[in-house]
Amino acid sequence: MATKTNNLSMWKNFQAVVINCRKCPRLVAHRETVPARPLYQHQKYWRRPLPGFGDQQAWLLITGLAPAGDGGNRTGRVFTGDATARFLVKALYAQGWANQPISESLDDGLILKDCYLTAAVKCFPPKHKPTRQECVNCHPYYMQEIEMLFKLRVILVLGKLAFDAFLLALKKQGLSTKGIKFKHGAFYRLENGLKLYCSYHPTPRNVNTGTLTEKMFYDLLEEIKKAQ
Ligand code: SF4
Repeated sequence: MATKTNNLSMWKNFQAVVINCRKCPRLVAHRETVPARPLYQHQKYWRRPLPGFGDQQAWLLITGLAPAGDGGNRTGRVFTGDATARFLVKALYAQGWANQPISESLDDGLILKDCYLTAAVKCFPPKHKPTRQECVNCHPYYMQEIEMLFKLRVILVLGKLAFDAFLLALKKQGLSTKGIKFKHGAFYRLENGLKLYCSYHPTPRNVNTGTLTEKMFYDLLEEIKKAQ
């Protein structure tokens, strides 16, 4: 019971620190002032950093790049309220990691099981491109999430920037990253026993151009599920 309480307060402290972070002046200014889309003019945008969301007992960690302008920066939860979220959560539901196929708002009832979603950078960056320094600034939060997920066995990285953040985490832990390269569908068994899978990020651009199809992504999730 003591451990459970400690874990809960550890997560709460972590979330409070992230939500109040102002380490990157450019990103703070951007997230707070970027205009709302006409469709969402009537809504109050979140406009703060976003810690990850999901099952704190997860064995699967899915890492994306950063919150989206009309997604997380609007709704207050990662992978929520935009096309990327719809693609991802529908796929998670199909494999039993989510209780519903939609992720639209904080109060939509979404519950993830055995799975935790986060972003390598916790604030919405201009043109979806954080600078190297912003990635460095935010990396300790990602490290903390990895460390707090004590049942973690598998990491799925979505895109090259998330891949780089995870590799940096391995390096900080003194682990070898030799021979580990980003490619959609790539799988690595790591020195520390974790398994790493790579996917293209399900951005509208990747999905609309067929760079990442539903089938490619569903096949990868199925492979991850079967390997457990
Ligand atoms: S990107 Fe990360 S480090 Fe920078 S302000 Fe946002 S939460 Fe803080």
